[in-house]
Amino acid sequence: MKALHVSALIVLVTVACGTGPTPSGDVDTARILAADAEPHNWLTHGRTYGEQRFSPLGSIDAGNVEGLGLAWTYETRTPRGASATPIVVDGVMYVTSAWSLVYALDAATGEELWLHDPGVDRSVGSKACCDVVNRGVAVYEGKVFVGVIDGRLVALDAADGSVVWETVTVDQTQPYTITGAPRAANGLVFIGNGGAEYGVRGYVSAYDADSGALRWRFYTVPGNPADGPDGAASDPIMADAAASWTGEWWRYGGGGTVWDAIVYDDAFDQVIIGVGNGSPWNHQIRSPQGGDNLFLSSIVALDAQSGAYRWHYQTTPGDTWDYTATQPIVLAELPIDGRSRPVAMQMPKNGFFYVLDRETGELLSGTPVVPMFPTEATPAGFPVSWAYAIDEETGRPVENPEARYRDGTAVVRPGAFGAHNWHPMSYSPETGLVYIPVQELALDYTTDPAFEVFQGHWNTGVALAPFPEDTAVRAVVVGGATGYLAAWDPVEGREVWRVERAGAWNGGTLATAGGLVFQGTVDGLFQAVDAVTGAVVWEHDNLAPTLSGPMTYEVDGEQYVSVMSGTGSAFFLIAGGLAPERGAPINGRVHAFKLGASQAVPAIEVEAEQVPAPPAMTVSAAELEAGGALYTRFCGVCHGVGAIGGGAITDLRTSDALQSASEWSDMVLGGERVRRGMAEFGDELSAETAELVRAYVARQAALLHEASGAGGG
Ligand code: CA
Repeated sequence: MKALHVSALIVLVTVACGTGPTPSGDVDTARILAADAEPHNWLTHGRTYGEQRFSPLGSIDAGNVEGLGLAWTYETRTPRGASATPIVVDGVMYVTSAWSLVYALDAATGEELWLHDPGVDRSVGSKACCDVVNRGVAVYEGKVFVGVIDGRLVALDAADGSVVWETVTVDQTQPYTITGAPRAANGLVFIGNGGAEYGVRGYVSAYDADSGALRWRFYTVPGNPADGPDGAASDPIMADAAASWTGEWWRYGGGGTVWDAIVYDDAFDQVIIGVGNGSPWNHQIRSPQGGDNLFLSSIVALDAQSGAYRWHYQTTPGDTWDYTATQPIVLAELPIDGRSRPVAMQMPKNGFFYVLDRETGELLSGTPVVPMFPTEATPAGFPVSWAYAIDEETGRPVENPEARYRDGTAVVRPGAFGAHNWHPMSYSPETGLVYIPVQELALDYTTDPAFEVFQGHWNTGVALAPFPEDTAVRAVVVGGATGYLAAWDPVEGREVWRVERAGAWNGGTLATAGGLVFQGTVDGLFQAVDAVTGAVVWEHDNLAPTLSGPMTYEVDGEQYVSVMSGTGSAFFLIAGGLAPERGAPINGRVHAFKLGASQAVPAIEVEAEQVPAPPAMTVSAAELEAGGALYTRFCGVCHGVGAIGGGAITDLRTSDALQSASEWSDMVLGGERVRRGMAEFGDELSAETAELVRAYVARQAALLHEASGAGGG
């Protein structure tokens, strides 16, 4: 017996060391098109080209899901935001973290097979509106493609993570970033970019998967007419687009970045892209005599081979609210008016759910998911809706004129966070329902009277309101924000059920043939919900915000469900008090669950917060207000609304630099911490204005000091 036991042990060790999966990245277009024949793999961003995020795997179902437990956790190398959807090919998981790091893992054990760090200069972080996140890779023809935050597209050898080729897809002197996942089809890799809050001109590009050569580029907004044609695939349509613009928009970039949705549609050999908001946000500055501003906030179809324009539908003509239409696009066949129609579905930030015929671009329906009221029916004290219906004749929104803040200011819902953001929705062909992470929160839009462009910084033309000091007022602001998982019938255009969530931000969804919908929450839960009834049937505490797209796969006949978590996923919401704080900053993590497993999530060590006494500074109320306005424009995006840090980035209220005018100046003006990702503001701020910002942060620090009980007496 003893000898047998020993030999069994040797066999086990050999298995663990010798026959782990070999990463090959052996995926091609035909294999992705036939993805339903191998449901154990998750071959592309949304599993199939149509990106329904529905898996035919059904071993885990409502009857046994209570036995689902944690099989393994893999810790990434950074606490910044976790937003990726893993890809699994033949037992190997390919996943990314913030700073565009790529990891290949054994999908059964979480063991690291290789890691690729593209070596991003951390100063790039100041160009990223919404953290230095990455939503995932494309695995194709032996390579792993990643869009790097600094604008590179990198092709890695799937076997070992070494670089096969890399190319710079943007003008790196401009504030472009890449956070989205590339997609690959028919020998091409498609990639977009972000940066419309800072002032750039958006486009999408197709590169040769073998060589990295640029095959085509489509600009989503016109450039300066004086510069002539771009020599790009968009040239033939750009005159039509330019006719919908007025003023000197090109000075501000125009916007229209393609930072998330890029879907390959095999049925019509086209790519359907989601186009972002205007740059600046404020339509009155961007295009003063009006105009729809094509192709901002639009869903656009392009010929996949040439990049030529096919059709478009503009969700928000003349966008002035940061209403991107970059949100995930799902392709399906839906029974409409008695026949099956090929459709593209999207819920952009603006709060409507759109169903388009994807052959023609015809609008089949546009239905509000969140409440939309005509001006006269807006409940007392309620922010105004931007629109309240879609005109069936014209396909255009019926707007509330008050929402355009032409007289200077308006409180509008949805706000710039959107009624739906990047968190992926899923569609189950078995239930016919779309599972959408919905949120309701308003924003106070005020035209910035002193707006001028600062290259490389926040250029929206909207003065964001400083965060209220009074904690009771803060509670009202935060309490007005809600989020929920909605099951949406896209044919009937109605909500079937919802699960309320804590905080506005809630995670991407996965639907399975086991009759389940998986979703994470901002307060750290990962749940399974009955896909028909919405009953919560399972949950697990991941200890950190769990917002990325969940996915599922099988290895050796066992089904796994995987999702990423990370404090940084929500740091600016935690910073603003819109999400609960869960412990100290920790690195992003990949979790994998299977039936019968029972690992514990590694605990988070919570250190007692040290709240130093703030420096004594003597400034007038007017100077404090000026400091607050400068803080909000130049610092708040990273360091949090009201200087309330959210964990992943230094909380300025407790930083050493706050204590000393010279240290503060070295940091803010002198660029002393550029290598750690802190921008320098020598061109934008002076010694005097930097000191006003310090005074504002010191005031916020004093509030924290009082609240901690250390400021008594
Ligand atoms: Ca935006």
